[in-house]
Amino acid sequence: MSVKITKVRCICTAPEGINLLVVRVDTNQPGLYGLGCGTFAYRHLAVKTVVEEYLDPLLRGREADRIEELWQLMHQNGYWRNGPVVNNAISGVDMALWDIKGKMAHMPLYQLFGGKCREGVPVYRHADGRDLDELCENIQRYQEMGITHIRCQCGGYGGESYGTVPETAPAGVLPGVYLDEHEYLHKTVGLFTGIREKLGYDIQLVHDVHERVSPATVIRLARELEPCELFFLEDPVPIEQLSWLRRLRQQSGIPIAEGELFNNPHEWKQIIAEGLIDYIRVHISQIGGITPARKLQIFAEQYGVKTAWHGPGDMSPLAHAANIHIDLAALNFGVQEWSDIEPPNFVIQELKGPRGALLDVFPGLPKFEKGYVYANDKPGLGVDLNEEEAAKYPCENTVTTWTQTRKRDGSLQTP
Ligand code: MG
Repeated sequence: MSVKITKVRCICTAPEGINLLVVRVDTNQPGLYGLGCGTFAYRHLAVKTVVEEYLDPLLRGREADRIEELWQLMHQNGYWRNGPVVNNAISGVDMALWDIKGKMAHMPLYQLFGGKCREGVPVYRHADGRDLDELCENIQRYQEMGITHIRCQCGGYGGESYGTVPETAPAGVLPGVYLDEHEYLHKTVGLFTGIREKLGYDIQLVHDVHERVSPATVIRLARELEPCELFFLEDPVPIEQLSWLRRLRQQSGIPIAEGELFNNPHEWKQIIAEGLIDYIRVHISQIGGITPARKLQIFAEQYGVKTAWHGPGDMSPLAHAANIHIDLAALNFGVQEWSDIEPPNFVIQELKGPRGALLDVFPGLPKFEKGYVYANDKPGLGVDLNEEEAAKYPCENTVTTWTQTRKRDGSLQTP
């Protein structure tokens, strides 16, 4: 059977107020199509243009089952490569081609990756609160749901919400998300010490630095958090300053997860081979989809590094499903970030759609039950798209505010 690509197009939808981008690949076989995630929530129109103006003409008429060849073709076709816009566009097509291959084989994707290593995928969830008491209540609620790994935060990521200018800032500063490193360091250490005192050690705790403080502060934070026995410290250093991981490793025994912002193998090869991290946590669409993610997972396995894929609200259920299928078949799986149908807390104020709309638009979202997530056993990714429902939630192109993070003096800090 010769399965040829007949059309590649995007469906943009925002059922929870977050811009999601789905790529649909149609074939010459009746009813056989694939869906993939190319969500770059804050630049969705750029990805849509790459898919529809460049990849669609490149791919029409080609064999849909030659994923490896087509990935490389998309990757090198624009000559300049390895960036987030192009990678997300490639990811949308790549996941859709895997979806098609699974449908051709009548198998869920985890079968094509070698079959299950585990029955369900243990996940971690994000808990926050205005103070220690509220945070502990939220942690206990998750524990009652069977969640064993919980990421903890007080307030936003290291700072206040957009628009609040601290009294201590110099005159005339611009609006932003302000953070104070010194205050953050002491509050965070106090918070985790308090959680351990209140709830004990029968729970795995994670903390996300979100690359928001200077490397020297992160080293202090890691050392001071050591008695709290974290499961891992998430994204301690910015992608531009990875060499600090060496210093962090020398000075602290805290387990490290890094990689949410990674784009390509040049960023992870060395830190994995040198054993500078314990968990690799890329955003799968950002690196180009399932094909490079599987290569990365297998590469990391050779060095004893585990996976902890990024699983936030600002990616579509198709990408969540891709994470889960790889997790099920990966010997070196560590833990999976899971946001259920809730977006990350820092965008929760911008929610527009009704709760549950995501499930109407994307039937087949992997199911959470008692601490574990399960893929369904439908062929391919197992997630469909209801285009009629999707059309009810159009995307909006607005200026992103939560990424306008600033230090105490008003200068910019990476978000
Ligand atoms: Mg993170």
